[in-house]
Amino acid sequence: MRLVVQNDKSLGNGAVAVGRRQRTARRARVHGVMAVLVAAAIASGCAQPGGSGTPAVPGAGDGSETAGSTTSRPPLKAPPPAVHPQAKKLKSAQEARAARIAAARRWRLDGIPLTPPPPPARKPRITTREGFEVDGHEELGLPPVFTTIPTKQRVVFLTIDDGAEKDPAFLRMMSDLQLPYTAFLSNYVIEDDYGYFGRMQRSGVVLNNHTLHHPYLPALSYRGQQHEICRMQEIIEERYGKRPLLFRPPFGNYDGATLRAAKSCGIKYVPLWNEEVFVDHWEYREWDRKIRPGDIVLTHFRGRNDWKGTMPDMIRRFLNKVTAEGYAVARLEDYL
Ligand SMILES: [Zn+2]
Repeated sequence: MRLVVQNDKSLGNGAVAVGRRQRTARRARVHGVMAVLVAAAIASGCAQPGGSGTPAVPGAGDGSETAGSTTSRPPLKAPPPAVHPQAKKLKSAQEARAARIAAARRWRLDGIPLTPPPPPARKPRITTREGFEVDGHEELGLPPVFTTIPTKQRVVFLTIDDGAEKDPAFLRMMSDLQLPYTAFLSNYVIEDDYGYFGRMQRSGVVLNNHTLHHPYLPALSYRGQQHEICRMQEIIEERYGKRPLLFRPPFGNYDGATLRAAKSCGIKYVPLWNEEVFVDHWEYREWDRKIRPGDIVLTHFRGRNDWKGTMPDMIRRFLNKVTAEGYAVARLEDYL
């Protein structure tokens, strides 16, 4: 078992420095950038993950040709009547695109978040990451511990832990951007406002297990660990009507007893993470500090009391980076 590589100052500082340099220019540039994005999105049909930069097929039926495309061709026939099913489909696609552009602008993103591909028809086989096994892992059928989903698609998965900060603006932002994520909740920080996470669940987010009190689990007996994990299963089921299938051990620390206890109350998967995003920097598990297809990204419900910014500030940082690198944000549960 390994721990995530901790805060590398050099990258953190580098990222901040870049941020400072850009900040002055950004305000002046932002409207220009958004205008270009709008034009690019309309012209190209929005780059898809893995296909960023791939031009849309000209004349693919949207009736909006790019500049210069008619110079060597006779004019196209009139578009089919609006009642045509294809035209209807196209109209709703255009509306969805316009909504994405507007949401990106409202939340002051550098670019329009990429649309994830449809959920895979065949789920990938999830196995425990090498070096993360416990004794008897396979033989006992213990839930796999993993940091990334095996896929070639340029997608990442956002997971948010604990539940201390309950920022209504965060819920609005995520719904507005239609950004999927998975929550891992600890009872001691959510019990003062279960309703907040009920609203989150109604927006399509799956609520998962992060123990009752967020202890260092390997220090507890099997029974103690079972109480922390299994009682939280019950609370989530009582409050939200669904028993979690996913469990994340606090700090990413676990032992064989943790996985046996988790299995005993219905846990099927133990996702850890490959990157962690904060409001002002990223941390990486891998030595080359690169995002890979299928990576699980961790962050926390935190606000100005804990770090220098809000939840929306953190999400903005996360999205700006993954979008710039050509990744879409997909729903973890769709791949499990
Ligand atoms: Zn935690």
